[in-house]
Amino acid sequence: MNNIRTLAVFCGSSNGKNPIYEMTARQLGEAMSKKCLGLVYGGGNRGLMGTVAQSLYQRGGNVIGVLPEALNRPDVRMHQVEDTLIIASSMHERKQTMYDLADAFVALPGGIGTFEEILEVYTWLQLGYHHKPVALLNVAGFYDQLLAFLQHSVDEGFLKQDHLHALIVEQDAESLLARLVTWNADLSDKLRQ
Ligand code: AMP
Repeated sequence: MNNIRTLAVFCGSSNGKNPIYEMTARQLGEAMSKKCLGLVYGGGNRGLMGTVAQSLYQRGGNVIGVLPEALNRPDVRMHQVEDTLIIASSMHERKQTMYDLADAFVALPGGIGTFEEILEVYTWLQLGYHHKPVALLNVAGFYDQLLAFLQHSVDEGFLKQDHLHALIVEQDAESLLARLVTWNADLSDKLRQ
């Protein structure tokens, strides 16, 4: 069993077109509050990022935002959580800070910022830099094409099947949080063929 206390959530700085994305971001905040989980996220007030942070904050949860200096602007940052906002000197320092503070990583739907962040922590998992659960909240099949592409990478001999299986995929927030606790992947060595 994993002792998960703080979750890093990567997600869009936009809301997306389907209202189910925003609803799911709110539900994730709610489900985290029920389990007394803290949030570490990008510190912004827009899109799904703002929604998940507001949802947890409004329920009295612990929210830590990590913003790079260049994005620390009044129109970008989330004012309600300014007391716990961490300002990093660069994007790299920001991500390292988020990764250090988190016990598990979750991606909601998003754009390239979200993909980059979740794929980086997934890469670090397969290389053994950490052993923390990495999960996709695959609401409305948003990540189906990425999952198909990852399976293509397995089929073509670039990604190990057990590394793909280590990625948690769930369609709703409560099931996903339950999986983080029981996740226990014994990963093969990426550096060996
Ligand atoms: P995207 O999925 O392309 O919208 O990018 C979202 C990710 O990039 C977030 O997890 C943030 O780390 C970062 N990011 C992009 N836009 C912003 C913003 N307006 N405020 C804070 N972080 C942002």
